[in-house]
Amino acid sequence: MSATADLVALGQQFYLPVYRPREVILERGQGARVWDRDGREYVDLSAGIAVCGLGHGDPDLIAALTEQAGKLWHTSNVFYSEPPLRLAEELVEASRFASRVFLCNSGAEANEAAIKLVRKWAAAQGREPTRRVIVSCRGSFHGRTLAAVTATAQPKYQEGYEPLPGGFRYIDFNDVAQLEAAMSAGDVAAVLVEPVQGEGGVMPAAPGFLQGARALCDRYGALLVLDEIQCGMGRTGTLFAHWQDGVVPDIVTLAKALGGGFPIGALLAGPKVAEVMQYGAHGTTFGGNPLAAAVARVALRKLASDAIAANVRKQSEALRAGLMAIDEELSLFAEIRGRGLMLGAVLKPEYAGRAGEVLDHAAANGLLLLQAGPDVLRFVPALNIGDADIAEGLARLRKALQAFVAPENG
Ligand SMILES: *Cc1c(COP(=O)(O)O)cnc(C)c1O
Repeated sequence: MSATADLVALGQQFYLPVYRPREVILERGQGARVWDRDGREYVDLSAGIAVCGLGHGDPDLIAALTEQAGKLWHTSNVFYSEPPLRLAEELVEASRFASRVFLCNSGAEANEAAIKLVRKWAAAQGREPTRRVIVSCRGSFHGRTLAAVTATAQPKYQEGYEPLPGGFRYIDFNDVAQLEAAMSAGDVAAVLVEPVQGEGGVMPAAPGFLQGARALCDRYGALLVLDEIQCGMGRTGTLFAHWQDGVVPDIVTLAKALGGGFPIGALLAGPKVAEVMQYGAHGTTFGGNPLAAAVARVALRKLASDAIAANVRKQSEALRAGLMAIDEELSLFAEIRGRGLMLGAVLKPEYAGRAGEVLDHAAANGLLLLQAGPDVLRFVPALNIGDADIAEGLARLRKALQAFVAPENG
């Protein structure tokens, strides 16, 4: 057996078998390229699930990490350190709506904090527990903690974990009429939405949906909570995705690209809710640790730049055009959708359920790709990806898709 096979065998023996990774062992990365331990090179259009927004090995992130690593790693929140203090101020300023920040370690934790903040806010208003309902959308993904997975309105993530926490209600994404019906009893405390659904299939909010949700929240005294864990941090062409929808949220959650690959999450709280949680109401040991915060400060500064926004627009068009060209040849896609560098290619009904097979062919052709559910190929590359990497990624995708359809043609 090769050393790679030996290592894969370790994963198969010792990991809780909740993942099904491709059988390669990635070893190092630079920009939008990654190498495995057998020396094979890959174009990375996955960015660690929309995490490595600046690609691999960004020199400024490395400098921030190593400089902080030589000073102080961890203080807990019993004591202050400078990086998270600065990061909180910078996030508030960048957000254009928030007045306070809670730092944590992941997306699920950020959403868990948001759910708790919603409940605390409703409780502080004297609302009965039965009148603290959180509405979320079918096809959403909000994380894997018990409350976040309950907000995640997809049965496949919930099955077997019952009893689930109460007080959640689901509507179809992009259906304002359903949302109004779900809120009309006046027992809803918050609406939780991804401006672009990620795991659920790369599905953007329809024009007017977030504005409709905002108006209903105002009418029925509920909070608008936006999960920008995947679509935020510049991915859609603006630092926050909801800027393109013209709404002001009450709470926004961030994670994924916030740390450029170092784990960190954040909850941004607007003025309506910023004072609700007081001393002792919530907490975390690791959240906002100096290492993560030092890296996130640099990631935030770079991802918020005009240069990144311009590159996202440019490469989004290149990627879309390339996908359409492939489709003209192979006729595989029912639709290409998404915003910025968060694009999904939906497989035609005759290829439904086979996105995972495409990922296998992609890896075999030197391309790291993601799916979003069984039917959608998901493209979430680094936001600073260059022309050559996009072109080479598309060339390898074309080969992978030719191999994918070949057995059927033959
Ligand atoms: C990834 C993701 C989460 C969960 O983040 P974790 O860091 O995996 O806990 C939540 N919401 C959205 C929209 C995500 O894409």
